[in-house]
Amino acid sequence: MPNAIDPGARRAILDAVDSLREEAVEALARLVRCPSTLGNEASALDEMARVYESLGLSPRRVPTMPEQLAGHPGFSPPLIPYEGRDNVVATHRPDRGGGGRSLTLQGHLDVVPEGAADMWATPPFEPSVRDGRMYGRGAGDMKAGDVSYCMAFKALRLAGLQPAAEVQMHSVVEEECTGNGALACMLAMPKTDAVIIPEPGPGMDALYTAEVGVVWAWVTVSGRPAHVRDMQSGINAIEAASTIAAAFKDYERAMNDGERIHPAFRGLNHPVNVNLGTIEGGEWNSSVPTRARIGMRVGVMLGYTAAETKADIERLVAEAARGERLRGAQVKLEFKGFMADPCAFDTEADIVRLARRAHAEATGGTLRDYPATGLTDGRHFVLHQNTPVACFGPDAQEIHGIDESVGLDSMHGITRTIALTMAEWCGVEPAARR
Ligand SMILES: [Zn+2]
Repeated sequence: MPNAIDPGARRAILDAVDSLREEAVEALARLVRCPSTLGNEASALDEMARVYESLGLSPRRVPTMPEQLAGHPGFSPPLIPYEGRDNVVATHRPDRGGGGRSLTLQGHLDVVPEGAADMWATPPFEPSVRDGRMYGRGAGDMKAGDVSYCMAFKALRLAGLQPAAEVQMHSVVEEECTGNGALACMLAMPKTDAVIIPEPGPGMDALYTAEVGVVWAWVTVSGRPAHVRDMQSGINAIEAASTIAAAFKDYERAMNDGERIHPAFRGLNHPVNVNLGTIEGGEWNSSVPTRARIGMRVGVMLGYTAAETKADIERLVAEAARGERLRGAQVKLEFKGFMADPCAFDTEADIVRLARRAHAEATGGTLRDYPATGLTDGRHFVLHQNTPVACFGPDAQEIHGIDESVGLDSMHGITRTIALTMAEWCGVEPAARR
């Protein structure tokens, strides 16, 4: 049974969240101004350390060390080194503690590239509020969630309370390409009784019920260069690479066949996606290109593993490389980035039931079930630590797209939800005098 919080305390906590509303929007704007794409997370990490300090906590850095993580089943091969990009964590410890349950509040600080900046209505890293939404890269995914859990904690303090159990906060890097930051923090910190990850919902407040896995693969084709007038004597690396790409689209169709779809994803149109994400190659419009490289993201349906998908990819590339169009070409296949298994979240777990109830009380609405065709860091805690995860968050739109935004009312509702959930999960005690 959760630690019942009396109605007076509940009201005080919710009033405190309401009084922090503007502060939360300002905190979100500060975080969105940090252009924390891969390799550039330092300013966001520093900002989050300042936020933890402002909560009266002592932030510390947790490095991501591939040599230590390499043997772990949750590890993904990195794209770049980790120097200067250490994750930030902080721990609240109760003064008395009353048998409450411990909690981890986790969020990522990295964002995906802004894409074509000239297509944004306002610059991607200059937050802009219009019609009750904040626009900016990362506003939804997931800096709003990062701010929400910090403001929820602050609200308890403002109400003269604090969690009566340990609360950890993890700010991690590389959720968008490996998940290694989250893995490093999970392994460096003591296990808690539950985890909340406020990842955004798809245009509505939502609760993640399951997520696909993802494998990143890179195919480099080296052909034979020639002047176009002798085109037949060359091997066009770009055309050869596009043959391989076509084979992956056939694979995608097969993987979305009805009988391969796990019940958790039934009713979803096309849950397993193969994305041809990057392409580079060629030297000159009038030269047969020597080399082309394609970067792909291949989804993994629940019931399958990343390792099986990796084997599928190896087979597909080997078959394509034997084709007529690739005769004489060299094909290199590499795996860097996600090697992530899919996972189902236990939606009957106490923390999830509590979050649903708190959300109803805090917002008058409901958390919509969301089987995600993308992934979160939640899988590490579920698959490798057996810790229940409540992954839910605010209404975000165009994440990874142009004009990403988050609904500020929705974000506020999620903050209220986390505050109530934390108070009931951990129990409360009088705030320490600071
Ligand atoms: Zn995210």
